[in-house]
Amino acid sequence: MNAEIIAVGSELLLGQIVNTNARFLSQHLAGAGINVFYHTVVGDNPERLKSAIDIAEQRSNIIIFTGGLGPTKDDLTKETIARHLGRKLVMDQTALGYIEEYFKKSNRVMTENNRKQALVIDGSTILPNNHGMAPGMVAANDHHIYMLLPGPPKEMEPMFVEYGMEALSMKTGTQEQIVSRVLRFFGIGEAALETEVIDLIDAQTNPTIAPLAGDGEVTLRLTAKHADRKIAESMLDEIEKKITDRVGEFLYGYNQTSLMEELMKHLKAEQLTITAAESLTGGMFQQGLTSVSGASSVFRGGVVCYSNEIKHQVVNVKQETLDLHGAVSEQCARELAENIAGMFHTDIGVSFTGVAGPGELEGKPAGTVYIGIAVKGKPTRVEKLNLGGTREQIRVRCVKYGCYFILKYLKESQNA
Ligand code: ATP
Ligand code: MG
Repeated sequence: MNAEIIAVGSELLLGQIVNTNARFLSQHLAGAGINVFYHTVVGDNPERLKSAIDIAEQRSNIIIFTGGLGPTKDDLTKETIARHLGRKLVMDQTALGYIEEYFKKSNRVMTENNRKQALVIDGSTILPNNHGMAPGMVAANDHHIYMLLPGPPKEMEPMFVEYGMEALSMKTGTQEQIVSRVLRFFGIGEAALETEVIDLIDAQTNPTIAPLAGDGEVTLRLTAKHADRKIAESMLDEIEKKITDRVGEFLYGYNQTSLMEELMKHLKAEQLTITAAESLTGGMFQQGLTSVSGASSVFRGGVVCYSNEIKHQVVNVKQETLDLHGAVSEQCARELAENIAGMFHTDIGVSFTGVAGPGELEGKPAGTVYIGIAVKGKPTRVEKLNLGGTREQIRVRCVKYGCYFILKYLKESQNA
């Protein structure tokens, strides 16, 4: 079985949005052992969409469309496909009821064109939309499977995961259950991680192991297929064990988590409070903390101390330290972390000081970063990093490293 993804939308061709839908679908299909050989992008134009379908049918068994299922005039995907297949569009009462309910609940008047969203291709399988109004659908004939998904990623992604994959395996006649698990790593590069597990990647066909990197993180998506879901799960357990035997120290979480969420979980569980003194990160760490719900039990506040005056006057870094070692120094990071924890009466104080770039500072190159971690009753640690990347990447990675080091330090002292 091979698949082609046709993303419909003139915004994509104009460069106004990026085709993240194709990336998402490709990753999931690859994980399920379905080859994706082509990505097509076509504007909101029925003739050109029709010719894209004609071409796709020559080379792919499964054709997945995203976009153009909405209520407006330029949304023409299902109309075009229905005409192409010689089928009618029929009103789906369940979808219509859901749309009417949506308008009633939000106290808005439903315009006539919204009914259009409940029209589906006759004889297709409906994919419910739990995050929007237009349902997805899967139509099939003797030669091809056509899956239609909405454009907005927040509707499309859960629809595909919750209903799309299953509908595909029904239509393709495979009885297999497909189970995926994402392992998230930090503190190890993509190449290094791949080298550690390359023999496993090469040897496996079921489960498959697919690496993906971004923003200093590396993930491995494990996917197992078996008629019995429990057996598929235990196949994943087995391969996960083989992987973590080698690189387990870098594993920080599973599936949709983040380093910040893991840090927050840990702090909550241990009933620890935290504060921060941030220079080059300008509050990004604190912003990250407060974006996790329930942050108030561990975080009450902190300081952004960008200039040396504020480091000295507000966070009491010794003038001597700044004169002698500079702001980008181990000594400064240490004082910032210890002083801020003392001022805010927290269990942990963390500090970020360094050179975000692009230029150098105090004779130190961009990417030179010190992260101080002061934990009550424990010796303060300062980690020095030499990060690469743009100013923004350096700042983002710096915050991630902060979370990573705090977690590591706390876990080590727990085990000690
Ligand atoms: P709506 O009901 O919102 O109109 P739709 O199914 O008709 O949904 P489109 O109108 O094609 O979809 O696109 C709606 C929005 O979804 C776009 O403005 C864009 O933000 C997002 N979107 C569409 N296609 C893609 C894509 N391929 N990748 C990422 N985002 C996309
Ligand atoms: Mg639309």
